[in-house]
Amino acid sequence: MTRSVSIFGATGSVGLSTLDLIRQHRSQYRVVALTANGNAAAIAQLAREFDAELAVVADEAAYADLKDALAGTGIEAAAGAEALVEAARRNADWTMASIVGCAGLPSTMAAIEAGKTVALANKEALVSAGALMMAAVRRSGAALLPVDSEHNAIFQCLAGGKIDQVRKITLTASGGPFRSFSLAEMQGVTPAQAVAHPNWDMGAKISIDSATMMNKGLELIEAYHLFPVGLDKIDILVHPQSVIHSMVEYVDYSTLAQLGSPDMRIPIASALAWPERIATTCKPLDLAAIGQLTFEQPDITRFPALRLARAAIAEGGAKPAILNAANEIAVAEFLNGQIKFLDIAALVEATLTAYVPVAPANLEELFSVDADARQYARAELEKLTSGH
Ligand code: NDP
Repeated sequence: MTRSVSIFGATGSVGLSTLDLIRQHRSQYRVVALTANGNAAAIAQLAREFDAELAVVADEAAYADLKDALAGTGIEAAAGAEALVEAARRNADWTMASIVGCAGLPSTMAAIEAGKTVALANKEALVSAGALMMAAVRRSGAALLPVDSEHNAIFQCLAGGKIDQVRKITLTASGGPFRSFSLAEMQGVTPAQAVAHPNWDMGAKISIDSATMMNKGLELIEAYHLFPVGLDKIDILVHPQSVIHSMVEYVDYSTLAQLGSPDMRIPIASALAWPERIATTCKPLDLAAIGQLTFEQPDITRFPALRLARAAIAEGGAKPAILNAANEIAVAEFLNGQIKFLDIAALVEATLTAYVPVAPANLEELFSVDADARQYARAELEKLTSGH
């Protein structure tokens, strides 16, 4: 049977990996919608290759190029925020949410509210809107399939188990490129050094998040919402080889782990075929060649993002949304060369202190918290860069 799929953020790292799997299993999948931000040429080429029904660019300025590139193909072209949301409501059996940042929230929520099967890579949306998103999942009966390798691992380890019989969930972390750097060494690192992840090939934003370990902080919040065992039962363990993607310990002290080569196509394939499996061309796991798996405790002094994220979800309310918004601003400014590496967590912390709104009760209020948090983060950035 053919599964119809839509991919949000199709031109990105996760989007392209998803399409790579579909390329290998063409007869099993039919592409409905593909979306990008402003990359009209790339999305048009993908839409042609996969014979999509619809291609959408979020940036309206890219619409004319998209329309030209699709002229004569019969593929619909659309642009803008509302077009993304409409695309998310289209008739696809399976939706990949792989836009980067909170920009993915409206389309991810629209797919969830339409009761679809949603493969979730867009962690920022869940971090920011956690309680609202999980309530929408319960209301609509949507199936939320975690794509992040750690959460996908936990999802697989929980299959056949019961959540109330879990004693502990352990999220593994590679530690990123600066795992063994001192704070003094981290102060001078460049964006190029920070995006060069030792194990994973990913988009720029998540690569920086991995380097600050904010990525693991965001994943802690993500796990808190996806797997309701309570925050005190979710631990983080540094495992530099990225072979064990996460673990679930049950009340009888039996621990289940999911292992695999560090290649996002493996967790994506598990979500794409779920509840079945499809073959991939990924590298098989060769434990004899790897030889050793090592583990360390995370260091919250050198990686304060871990402390900030745990405190944000412990406090709840608007805090995770502020954490995420400030981090998005800080990462963009670091990538633009405006702030130093250690300023990223400092900016997030300053924003969390400066902005204390009430908890958002609905999506509209959440968007307003997100927008205000960005303003506060910019004000803190101004202080930082002007030396006040
Ligand atoms: P990329 O930066 O590689 O791709 C981002 C995608 O989102 C692109 O298609 C881009 O379009 C689109 N996009 C960017 N900004 C907007 C916007 N404002 N509105 C609409 N679309 C937008 O990101 P990744 O693939 O690395 O990451 C995607 C998500 O998956 C993130 O949330 C990340 O944390 C998560 N994730 C990624 C992993 C990885 O291995 N890469 C692993 C686990 C999770 P365009 O090309 O036009 O800019």
